[in-house]
This record gives sequence, structure tokens and C-alpha cells, in this order.
Amino acid sequence: VRFTKERLDIIREETKKDQCLITLTSTIINGWPDSIKDLPVEIRSYWSYRDELSMEDGLIFKGERVIIPNSQKQTILDQLHYAHQGVEKTKLRARDSVYWNQINQDIEKLVKSCPICQEHQPSQQKETLRPHEIPQRPWEVLGTDLFHFQGAEYLLVADYYSKYFVVRKLGQNTSSSTVIRALKQILAEHGIPLKIISDNGPQFSAAIFKQFAEQWSFHHITSSPHYPKSNGFIERHVQTVKAALT
Ligand SMILES: [Zn+2]
Repeated sequence: VRFTKERLDIIREETKKDQCLITLTSTIINGWPDSIKDLPVEIRSYWSYRDELSMEDGLIFKGERVIIPNSQKQTILDQLHYAHQGVEKTKLRARDSVYWNQINQDIEKLVKSCPICQEHQPSQQKETLRPHEIPQRPWEVLGTDLFHFQGAEYLLVADYYSKYFVVRKLGQNTSSSTVIRALKQILAEHGIPLKIISDNGPQFSAAIFKQFAEQWSFHHITSSPHYPKSNGFIERHVQTVKAALT
């Protein structure tokens, strides 16, 4: 989380006004008692990590993380959750920068009650790759698919090994030759893989796509027509990319 100077000034001012943090500040400066029993009740929850706490320039730190006063929690939560990336990513963002007691619970509560996060949560089911999908190195096996987003068609290419992906806007034209042109650009930049896996969409089943695969010498594997939903890897990436674009 990036703090502007103004935000830091506010946190500093609010730290001075926060009853619990006032007590915490004076305890950090004057030293901790030998027993938690001698500690004011409102800051006993800080006891177990008292060695990690320090003061700098009017801010309280737990390690590298700024302790956020009560009045600023909601603002910081909103900032952490700005990109609607779900519980784990939001916690990761907090881990490098801010802290308060119960921060993880607050993040969980916020994300669970956020309709946008819930709608775009990728499903938690384990990804099982079939034998032809298991790569030994990056950019060896790629998945590709088209998707529609806000009035335009997009091409997605994702690497099975690294999960790295490339998105190209195709506009309205999704003919085989448009798709092939976009794929050629991507492969020219990143290299030619051993395999490209796609569904049986008309762009990929066309004769010129077969020609393209032969000329550029990669194996083109299409998901079985009997299991049209079996291309789970690329479908999950489509969801992720759409959520990010949204
Ligand atoms: Zn959200």
C-alpha cells in the first residue's frame, strides 16, 4: 500500500488521538512491565509481539508494518481491497504495510460481504492436468481461448507452467486469420511452444489454423468434443482476466 504524505499525516494525527494507541505509545517509550498483569487491559493484545513494536516519527510499527488507528481502519481496508482480489491477495497486500489486531478477520469479513469479490472468486476446485498438459519448462505448453468483454472480442494465451498470460484485443473480428495474426505476434515475441491447447471453436478448427500449426511447428491439441468443458486451465484464466479487466 502506498501512502501519500497526507495519508501518513492523518495516521500520525489519529494515532495521537486513539486512546489505545496513546497507552501503547507510552508503554513502548517507557518500557514494558515484567508481567502482562501489570499492563493496562486495552493493550494486552499487543503483549505477545511487544518485541516487534517500535516508534518512528509519530507512527507505531510492528516490524515494517504501520499500526493503524481505529478511525483509519475502514479507509485502509478500502484501499487494500481496491482491486477486489479476494481474501488471500488482500491479506498479502496488508502483510507488507499495515497492521492492527484482528486485521485478517476484518479483511475476511469485508471480502465475504463484498458482492464483487464473491462474484469474481475463482472456484476453489483443484486443478487436475491431463498428461498432455503437464509441461517441463515455461512456454512449452500454452492454452488459448477467445472471450467477449464489454463489446469486444479478446484472445488470451496462457502458459501452463508459469501461468504467465498475454491478452490481445481483437475488436469485432474473430476470424481464423485474425486469431492467427495475433497468435503469430505473441509467439514472435515470446517464442514458439511445443503445444497449444484450445477448444474446438471455428477459429481453431479451421484448415488454415492446421496449416499455421504445421508451418510454425507446434502441436495443436483441441479439447475433446465429448468434453467441451474439459479445458479448465484456460477457462479459469479467462475468469481471472475478466475480473481484472472489470
Ligand atoms: Zn471486493
